[in-house]
Amino acid sequence: MAEVWSEQRLLIDGELVDAASGATYDNVNPATEEVLGVTADAAQADMDRAIAAARRAFDETAWSTDVAFRLRCLRQLDEALGAHAEELRGTVVAEVGAPVALTSGPQLDAPLQGVGWVADLVERYEWQQDIGEATNFGITSRRVIQREAAGVVGAITPWNFPIQINLAKVVPAMAAGCTVILKPAPDTPWTGTLLGRIVAEETDIPAGVFNVITSAANDVGQQLCEDPRVDLISFTGSTSTGKKIMRAGADNLKKVFLELGGKSAAVVLDDADLGSALFMTAFAITTHAGQGCAITSRLLIPRSRWDEAVEQLLGIMGSISYGDPTDPANMMGPLIRESQRERVLGYIQKGVEEGATLAMGGGIPTHLEKGFYVEPTVLLDVDEDATVAQEEIFGPVLAVIGFDDDDDAVRIANNSIYGLSGGVFAGSDERAVAVANRIRTGTMTINGGLYYGADAPFGGYKQSGIGREMGVLGFEEYTEVKTLAFPV
Ligand code: ADP
Repeated sequence: MAEVWSEQRLLIDGELVDAASGATYDNVNPATEEVLGVTADAAQADMDRAIAAARRAFDETAWSTDVAFRLRCLRQLDEALGAHAEELRGTVVAEVGAPVALTSGPQLDAPLQGVGWVADLVERYEWQQDIGEATNFGITSRRVIQREAAGVVGAITPWNFPIQINLAKVVPAMAAGCTVILKPAPDTPWTGTLLGRIVAEETDIPAGVFNVITSAANDVGQQLCEDPRVDLISFTGSTSTGKKIMRAGADNLKKVFLELGGKSAAVVLDDADLGSALFMTAFAITTHAGQGCAITSRLLIPRSRWDEAVEQLLGIMGSISYGDPTDPANMMGPLIRESQRERVLGYIQKGVEEGATLAMGGGIPTHLEKGFYVEPTVLLDVDEDATVAQEEIFGPVLAVIGFDDDDDAVRIANNSIYGLSGGVFAGSDERAVAVANRIRTGTMTINGGLYYGADAPFGGYKQSGIGREMGVLGFEEYTEVKTLAFPV
């Protein structure tokens, strides 16, 4: 197992510094409940300095316009991150409780590979597009659409996939010529501060272009959203916080990118291969203990195959091994903190109170003495309007709902304020796609396909967000468009 790598300091204007007050807070390992170490607990004065530095670096340096220099810096960052991959692996496992098995995918290796993809994109990107001539008032002009950096970006990130989400914001933002203040989640500071240290010590990225502010409280995030010197907020987190962020930015009409909650449905049609559909769904809801916004937490099963499906599902869920995240056999570790465990257990209780049948799990595992674990849990006969079918639980809790026919399945899948992800399983891809196309959601798994990749846009319909992260669209979120006209 790789060592845990720590960095307690903030990055402000090119310097690794403690909080001005000297305050720190504990970084806790959710699997062992042990304190790993401390991190700077920033306050308003620190955030203010970081915003000033990012504003100055944007307005007074060539960062936003010198594409060749940015590309060189991105390549340096890519190499430096690769050189520290094992230390980052140890750290993300320790501070997130992320199963080490997941670090070969979206918890670490995949996002690290994505840095090179963004650099390649910048290398070939057409910053100008000639759209030809137009005649107005008898004057003919040639028009050019030009992309420019959006400005100072506040990147506010959650704790569940911190390296993936930090990089998915910071790298394209800097690649586009923006300057950035990263505000990681209070529970997962080091994956952010270590990125700060790598940028400061191992790249030529100029002072002020990238800043990292960690805090035990959320108010520095609010400050970032309200400050008129910040042009754009890129946020991933809960829908309720996303709404606060939009309100906070409204006074100066800040641009917002929001990647928010989900309550995605896995729809198993009556001619699907039940075994693979149920395996995929059980795997999804237990992966990282269900702590992913795109995880399918509602399972829709045809009533015509209900008994058979439930029997198979319980068999598969019962065979999932979970526990110590440093054990490569486990895809499911603990929840992030005790209060999150209480919240998940509260949802399970509410599900039963509202009429669901608790068919498996529902409690704290007895075989694990330490760590914020919850058993893999299956709630059957869930009413489509019940709280556990409507609200995001962020735990290993699967709500199973019956349906009559394809129309009914589509209606239930769309009965949600969210629209982030989902899946359809059917006897043919054609049939699955016909149903998937009727579900209002940003990503869709067809018969078990996995969309994740640096080039694949990710984001939500409805209250799951605004905009797309990753891919060319994700890069362009960090640009403004200027239309130029020349007389011919
Ligand atoms: P969680 O991921 O724990 O459900 P949030 O969505 O609230 O919680 O948190 C995601 C990120 O948003 C974290 O970095 C958190 O500190 C930050 N945050 C929470 N509240 C606010 C707020 N009012 N304004 C700005 N950022 C916030």
